[in-house]
Amino acid sequence: MKEVNNRLVFIGTGGGRVVISNQARNAGGFVLQIPGVQMHIDPGPGALSGTARTKIRPAQTRVIISTHEHTDHANDINALIEAITLGGINKKGILISVPAVIDGTKEELPWLRNYYKSKLDEIFKIKTNDKVKLGDLTVTATKTQHDIDDCIGLRIEGPDVSIGYTSDTIYFKDLHKEFKDIAVLIINVLRPGSDKWKTHMCTGDAIKLIEEVKPELAIITHFGQKMLNANPLLEAREIQKRTGVRTIAADDRLEVNLEGIAQGRGVQTTL
Ligand SMILES: [Zn+2]
Ligand SMILES: [Zn+2]
Repeated sequence: MKEVNNRLVFIGTGGGRVVISNQARNAGGFVLQIPGVQMHIDPGPGALSGTARTKIRPAQTRVIISTHEHTDHANDINALIEAITLGGINKKGILISVPAVIDGTKEELPWLRNYYKSKLDEIFKIKTNDKVKLGDLTVTATKTQHDIDDCIGLRIEGPDVSIGYTSDTIYFKDLHKEFKDIAVLIINVLRPGSDKWKTHMCTGDAIKLIEEVKPELAIITHFGQKMLNANPLLEAREIQKRTGVRTIAADDRLEVNLEGIAQGRGVQTTL
């Protein structure tokens, strides 16, 4: 079988205080593998140990992106740099993140340790609307409305890839504009049904966003305990029924083959 070289692998799909503390799901974020680059996005607790349970080799990650300073999005940054650089022996890797994660804030120390800072090839400190060019890839920081200001979503675009990631945000009127023409939209959906929460989206919010963006594929992740109790698979089915957009509920170690999307052949997933 031909090796797939354009895929998403979900390391962890948990979010929120309860799921992080009981590890009902890992919270290690997800990996994007495309020709020439492997990126790990939002490496929360379990990013490194969770990756070791997939086909992904952490040492081959070249780009780490952390969208904000919350533990479930930043905890394993140093552990990943340790793996990428073999304990600091090989200087390499790129970190893209917000100032709070890289420099800390008035109240908090940075997540990134000085030792590892010096072992990276490059650090990009970005805020909403900033763009980072990595070869023929462009990473754009999108707007969020979360309980901290220093939080971004992402657009990752290139010849073989068109991915949007909301990160943690509530639904707001213009959110869909951030993801215009995106093919694959990854949405952090903490709660099921119309169970609204002041800092995150619920299934009802995801339905509105997907109806507006109309991606080829929607993937929901970052589940809180109430979402797990309701069963994310059923929530994804409901979203798909209401929007007509193919929707997947991510699971720890879920692999999504993106090649079919770029070439209009549909989507395959394997666990
Ligand atoms: Zn979160
Ligand atoms: Zn958060």
